[in-house]
Amino acid sequence: MRKPILAANWKMHKTVAEAVRFAEEFAKALGDEQSVDAVIAPPFHALAAVGPVLAGCSAELSAQNVHPEEKGAFTGEISPGMLADLGCGYTIVGHSERRALFGEDDAFIARKAAALLAHQIRPIVCVGESLEDREANRTLDVVGGQLQGSLAEIPSDRAAEIVVAYEPVWAIGTGRTATPEIAQEVHGFIRERLSARFGPTGAEIRIQYGGSVKPDNIRELMAQADIDGALVGGASLDATSFLQIVTFGRSEGSA
Ligand code: PEP
Repeated sequence: MRKPILAANWKMHKTVAEAVRFAEEFAKALGDEQSVDAVIAPPFHALAAVGPVLAGCSAELSAQNVHPEEKGAFTGEISPGMLADLGCGYTIVGHSERRALFGEDDAFIARKAAALLAHQIRPIVCVGESLEDREANRTLDVVGGQLQGSLAEIPSDRAAEIVVAYEPVWAIGTGRTATPEIAQEVHGFIRERLSARFGPTGAEIRIQYGGSVKPDNIRELMAQADIDGALVGGASLDATSFLQIVTFGRSEGSA
């Protein structure tokens, strides 16, 4: 049984005060709920302030990015050790915005994921096709290639700790969600690839869907066999909305 995992990706939003206010409200409502993994990924500047608030509940702190090196002359970057120091339990890598806007490739993402695991931080590894890929019937080729490349450095005995997020680029921030059937088709394919790569552990790896997830569509997504959670952008910026997503996702996911 895979525990549902609902993660908030705040991207470049919120002041420290706003982030703490959200975390306080969220932590109070979530309490010590153990049937779901709730994860919050604030921007870097708010990690140190949000971490101690989330320590009072079962939610975990996540970063949105990391550099694979331990330390050195990498102006503007942050290392896995630094994120561990801040109490991050998860970190998002390979988000399509990082791939498209900052030129990150699968090999670089693979190094990040392995470096995070070395610090006991679980990587949330994002994959997903563009609209152009989908329209050219290249979805499975693209997603398969990203998976192979981005997970290349994950040792089999640590595979159960990773999370894969399938985020079709055409559904991110567009209000255009993949239908549950379209999402399940790709999630099923990802599950097959994970099992081929990691053996029986592939069945333990959680696969999130991301792309315009909201309180009113999370249930039908979570009802799909291989959708184990969601990575949520826009609808995670409001505490009530994200709480609903966590609550609905949890009940459907554990049904
Ligand atoms: C995301 O940024 O990972 C995302 C899925 O965004 P949104 O929910 O806004 O589509």
